Amino acid sequence: MSKYKITLIPGDGIGPEVSEAAKRCIDATKVDIEWEIVEAGSAVIEKEGTPLPDSVIESIKKNKIALKGPIVTPVGTGFRSVNVALRQRLDLYSCLRPCKSYAGLNIPYSDVDLVIVRENTEDLYAGIEFEEGRKETLELIEKIEQLSSKKILKDSGVSIKPISETATKRIVKFAFEYALKNNRKKVTAVHKANIMKFSDGLFLRVAQEVAGEYEGRVEFTENIVDNLCMQLVLRPHNFDVLVLPNLYGDIISDLCAGLVGGLGLAPGANIGDDCAVFEATHGSAPKYTGLNKVNPVAMILSGVLMLKYLKEDAAADKLENAVKEIISEGKSVTYDLKKDRNDPSAVGTSQMADAIIEKL
Ligand code: NAD
Repeated sequence: MSKYKITLIPGDGIGPEVSEAAKRCIDATKVDIEWEIVEAGSAVIEKEGTPLPDSVIESIKKNKIALKGPIVTPVGTGFRSVNVALRQRLDLYSCLRPCKSYAGLNIPYSDVDLVIVRENTEDLYAGIEFEEGRKETLELIEKIEQLSSKKILKDSGVSIKPISETATKRIVKFAFEYALKNNRKKVTAVHKANIMKFSDGLFLRVAQEVAGEYEGRVEFTENIVDNLCMQLVLRPHNFDVLVLPNLYGDIISDLCAGLVGGLGLAPGANIGDDCAVFEATHGSAPKYTGLNKVNPVAMILSGVLMLKYLKEDAAADKLENAVKEIISEGKSVTYDLKKDRNDPSAVGTSQMADAIIEKL
């Protein structure tokens, strides 16, 4: 019997290519893993009638850990996001996204080392939405007008933004505990409390209360989200761990990925009390499907996070160092890491994984 049984969801779009690359790299560290491969997303929707079959949830609940490729979410219509549904159904409330710059990249700043802690279960991502023109939507608008004496145009669609004390407390605690365990000095809470007093205002108040419990051990600061965007672009070194509600966390993750060289390099983890699902920040980049072109590093580094979570630190460090070496050599890298994106010497997804494996 293997030491670990781990669910692998290849995903769709570029998912299967980057998942396979990551799986091969993780296996090459010699950590003893048996992979249970289950399908979700557009690959199964016709056969199963849903993009997220119960068997996928059951597999993760049983194995406690999954590595997941990206899955497409159609814009506006069609099924709701499988990615969001998975996080909600498994209560994977913390989204952890380290953004670290590696030497050898053509990026504006060196030594960027930020960690994003994004709340994963509520906010405008809760999926509580009312479509324009429907009976329930008109009833809701009427009720809101009665209760708030504010006008909403009748032809509006409405999305609800719940932010609770419970979820805020646990995500801010997660950020501070992460900071303590990983020798981080500062946690910054990000919000728009000046405008949304009862959702972001609550987030800020609870963050301040939790920060009080860590006084003297971890510094606490706060920033309004629009100001944070500017500060991150000008002075990323002023930040350490950022804790954010769901939507701002999503947007700031991509900004920070851009700071360290792009989405091809940004890993992530969704962590709850019982299970954890590791996946890159990027999506399924449909236009690159099947081309063996995109960067596998975000997915491989998600595997590094997974190995750390399993306390396989030696294997995690070895794999991260191999990635670092390949990036700094700049030879066996995908197009996005070349100075000129049309550089014909760029290698494919699987060749970059091969080069990383050779360094192990
Ligand atoms: P995306 O992240 O898929 O791609 C945007 C662009 O980023 C790509 O066109 C490409 O230029 C670049 N990129 C992304 N991954 C890369 C990689 N590994 N290597 C090199 N370049 C890379 O974002 P999108 O186009 O907005 O979304 C496509 C689909 O993915 C949507 O349906 C979206 O909902 C979904 N999505 C899924 C997840 C997830 O599975 N967790 C996350 C984000 C988006």
